[in-house]
Amino acid sequence: MISEQDRDALRASMPELLAARCGIHDLRRSFRCPSPAHDDRDPSAHYYPNDHSVHCFGCGRTWDVFSLIGELDGIDNFADQARAVADIVGYHLGEEDGQARRPYRRRYEKRKPRPLFDEPRVAGGDDCADACDHAFEALYEAGNEVGRRYLRWRGLDDQDIMAHGLGFTRVPKDIMPAFKVWEPEALGFVTIPFWDATYEHASYCMVRTISRGKVRNKEWRPAGIATPLWCEWKLSASLDVLYVAEGLIDAIALQKIVGGDVMALGGVSNAKRLAQVLYRVPVEARPRTMVVCMDEDDEGRKASDRICADLDALKVAHAVMPPYPGGAKDADEWLMNGRDSDWTYEAYGEAAGIRLYRTRWLA
Ligand SMILES: [Zn+2]
Repeated sequence: MISEQDRDALRASMPELLAARCGIHDLRRSFRCPSPAHDDRDPSAHYYPNDHSVHCFGCGRTWDVFSLIGELDGIDNFADQARAVADIVGYHLGEEDGQARRPYRRRYEKRKPRPLFDEPRVAGGDDCADACDHAFEALYEAGNEVGRRYLRWRGLDDQDIMAHGLGFTRVPKDIMPAFKVWEPEALGFVTIPFWDATYEHASYCMVRTISRGKVRNKEWRPAGIATPLWCEWKLSASLDVLYVAEGLIDAIALQKIVGGDVMALGGVSNAKRLAQVLYRVPVEARPRTMVVCMDEDDEGRKASDRICADLDALKVAHAVMPPYPGGAKDADEWLMNGRDSDWTYEAYGEAAGIRLYRTRWLA
């Protein structure tokens, strides 16, 4: 017999059971479903201290310590479940009316504790800052006007180019040897470096195809190197508000429009990296609020939902940006749509015989 008193004491040992058997220590945030039957990639389970239960929003199931150990170890009988829990959490049962303890057999090996978010892959390559600096100079060389013209068409002026160290190349391999780009009709490529917080080093660069004809890929990345987030360091810069855009050009456009701190995923496939990186940032260094600004399309909405769920789990306040004004599908289109109504270009100087342009916002 398990007394009522033992039953209540054991029921309250859910935190110990979760720590010992599932490696879950912080019950203030959601964690991955403890059920081996639910391959829960996102943390969707919560602990409820009022009744010491765990509920998973992914598979919809609820456990107390007895049903949970039943689930983990395949024990059906209540008395055996109670003994198993008592063993694990180190509780001495007041039993037992002379009855010998029945051994129970674990059907599963003890599972390794799983972290809330996987370790992110080390991303980026060697420092390509020098090559990016050369590309910046190349943007202002005779014969390469197409680069600045392309950027101005996207709404980006010489001040944006300088602020972000953008550049131009015809040979992406010159920027990072790992580029394997094949664009027969390309006129060249805009280089978008991934600078560190000092803007002195760049461990990664993306290039954007400029072409009058067919484009195979509008954006190219070096092959075989994991993509960091663009301005990843801003996740640990204690910012009040941090915007996260989907694409790099969108991020630059957004920074121009909102004037705040912006970072970019560099592709929706990098959505999970955001939480992986953020998870390892001390709470006080995390942004206080994030504004999620993905593209207004199915992929963008999916990425946005995923990021918001991750930010919920990490308890980072967040807002979502789309819809964009005027029905734009992304931040860059929002910027481009505002040309001559919200802003216009004005020449503000000359360098080496080249006229420089900046943006003037119209009242
Ligand atoms: Zn579940």
